[in-house]
Amino acid sequence: MKILAHVIIVSILTIITQIGGIVWIMNFAFFRWVKKGNSKWTKLSSFLVIYLLLTFLIIPIFAKISGRVPLPITKSDNLIPHNYITPLLNRHYVKPRLKTQLLELADKTNSENKLLKVSYLDANFPFIDGFPLLPHLSHNDGRKVDLSFYYTKNEKEGNLKPSNTGYGAFVEPSDTEYNQTKECKSAGYWHYDYTKFLTLGSRNDLVFDLENTRNLVIKLVQSPLTQKILIEPHINKRMNLTNNKIRFQGCRAVRHDDHIHHQINN
Ligand SMILES: [Zn+2]
Repeated sequence: MKILAHVIIVSILTIITQIGGIVWIMNFAFFRWVKKGNSKWTKLSSFLVIYLLLTFLIIPIFAKISGRVPLPITKSDNLIPHNYITPLLNRHYVKPRLKTQLLELADKTNSENKLLKVSYLDANFPFIDGFPLLPHLSHNDGRKVDLSFYYTKNEKEGNLKPSNTGYGAFVEPSDTEYNQTKECKSAGYWHYDYTKFLTLGSRNDLVFDLENTRNLVIKLVQSPLTQKILIEPHINKRMNLTNNKIRFQGCRAVRHDDHIHHQINN
């Protein structure tokens, strides 16, 4: 039973953080070896300390060697995490050229409007091409990152958050707009809107900021490095942009009227 519990914990930690499962195994192997400090709390505290030290001091060094770098985590940057849980879970790694592109884009955005920064959601794990960052199957090679839409409150702009995770608070289509979610769900893709369960708290007093979101998408498609952008059809229609880099992700994925999926060329 005890082994099964460890297997479950290691699996969950690996799925959520990539490195957490290995840290868990090494930590418990160490306490078994020294045969001291057997209290559960000692082991758990030791795990947390080692995990945090690795996450913020060691992993960035090794990830760089294997070709990925962490996105900024300080508020002083113009590129910011939507939620600090993302870097805490090592889900903010990208290829260096994607980081450079995002930093330039964020600086440009902020130089045009001091109230705005570019906020990122899930990117990739630090290591191993092909290792997916669930639930995003394609975020597995350092070339992908999700970005937040912009919202306003009482016409005031800023990096406002309708959902704590950045996912699951949708910009619903109006009655006259094409409803992709309805189409996908009636075609049997029941999971299409399941991110509504992943908000970790949401608010409904914000208004989708079409203009600033559109400006961000324009900057992304204008960059030669950009390969494609995935966004829900009714949002694309509202933005009135025609560019073959802007695409619909298909019903097998999840709905994209809560964030922008951005990816760069190989
Ligand atoms: Zn994505």
